[in-house]
Amino acid sequence: MSKVRVRYAPSPTGPQHIGGARSALFNFLYARATGGKFILRIEDTDLERSSRESEQNILTVLRWLGMTWDEGVDVGGPFGPYRQTERLDTYRIYTQRLLEIGAAYHCYCSEEELAAEREELISRGETPRYLGKCRNLTTEQIREYEAQGRKPVVRFRVPEDHEIKVNDLVRGEVSFDSNLIGDFVIVKSDGIPTYNFAVVVDDTTMEITHVLRGEEHLSNTPRQVLIYQALNLPVPEFGHISLILGKDRSKMSKRHGSVSVAHYREQGYLPEAIVNFIALLGWAPPGEEEFFSMEELIGAFGLDRAAKNPAVFDMDKLNYISSHYIKKAEPSRLAELAVPHLLEAGFLTEHPDTAGFKWLTRMMAAVQEYLAYVGQVAEYARFFFGEEVTLQGSEAREVLQGEQVPPVTELFLKKLEEAAELTPETVKGILKSVGKELKLGGKQVFMPLRVALTGETQGPELYNLIPLLGKETAANRVRSAMKQL
Ligand code: GLU
Repeated sequence: MSKVRVRYAPSPTGPQHIGGARSALFNFLYARATGGKFILRIEDTDLERSSRESEQNILTVLRWLGMTWDEGVDVGGPFGPYRQTERLDTYRIYTQRLLEIGAAYHCYCSEEELAAEREELISRGETPRYLGKCRNLTTEQIREYEAQGRKPVVRFRVPEDHEIKVNDLVRGEVSFDSNLIGDFVIVKSDGIPTYNFAVVVDDTTMEITHVLRGEEHLSNTPRQVLIYQALNLPVPEFGHISLILGKDRSKMSKRHGSVSVAHYREQGYLPEAIVNFIALLGWAPPGEEEFFSMEELIGAFGLDRAAKNPAVFDMDKLNYISSHYIKKAEPSRLAELAVPHLLEAGFLTEHPDTAGFKWLTRMMAAVQEYLAYVGQVAEYARFFFGEEVTLQGSEAREVLQGEQVPPVTELFLKKLEEAAELTPETVKGILKSVGKELKLGGKQVFMPLRVALTGETQGPELYNLIPLLGKETAANRVRSAMKQL
């Protein structure tokens, strides 16, 4: 087999979405698993909707996820340029060839004429398609249209009674009836090629061997195959990976959570979690293991385990996978990611200095086991910031009304004051000795101190919390809580 060359070919018409990132990942993994090349091509022929900003967002997101490409818009390569609007001369050569061999023709039909044809077909219950009015225009007719100032499009002449068979790497054999496909436009009247044509010219000139993309493109495939066949070009292998649906099994959309990868990045999901999660959207790992690093995915990935059934985007699953990586992450990395969230929530007013960052790193180590993604830190930060506490609810108040509470807090404050250094270990010792000296069970010591230190009955481990608060803040909090009774 010739060397594998695969591509991800996004249209830069918006931020990189989950589905596209999944296509990119599958191509990347396939290239790396087979020792092939991964190409990043930008399909920007929709001049109105394409933007360099979206293009940049796509590249940034893919790099953040840990993908690299061997050829592409920004890195160049032997088959460039890799941006479609810079390849118009190449499309022109292929258009000319198709026109010369009679596989394409100029069509002068106006929008109104096409709309009327469409409606007519729909009212007859037929598939709307172009019926070929301009297929065999005489020189006379062409001259007349030109004289009227009509600007033609170029249409592909779809052969009649032709079965188009595709042996899809994921879906198996799929066949299409050419009679249901009208002659389709390959070059618009402004000279810009359409997707189905440009993609064939690019895939063939870039020597793409496998076209791996979302199932939503399956219906485009027969059109593309017809163009390859008309030009006598080798047809690449196709693999259409399953659609991604929301949990309610309707097509994945904003309603199911954000579709843009950047959104998850901003929320504080780690790239390795997103990669792991999207790898499982349409690919089933061989064993029980569900956590995979990029390296492990490269080792395990294959199209033989790509699923035909739609994949379901399940937020709970994403959070489950994500928390696994958050637990494993270096606290300093989490601290860096937490800063914007703490600034936004008002816990920080500026980027912390070295000492502040060290403290934040310790705080993240104390909370990382509770987080699905870093952005959730805002929900836990209240435990760690602030000199005073406010008693939350009647339960907290009741806890502090226990008769053992004044001696407990008093002895705790005394021992706190006397402690040489506060570490989780020394704090554990203090808490233990308070109970021992007052002959009280663990809960009778922990609960009131928890409430006195946080205002709440649930929260982080006291031995993690107290060293982070420091002597002074811890004492201030206990006193302020007791005053609220
Ligand atoms: N530009 C197309 C898209 O973004 C690419 C389709 C393909 O891979 O052929 O959906």
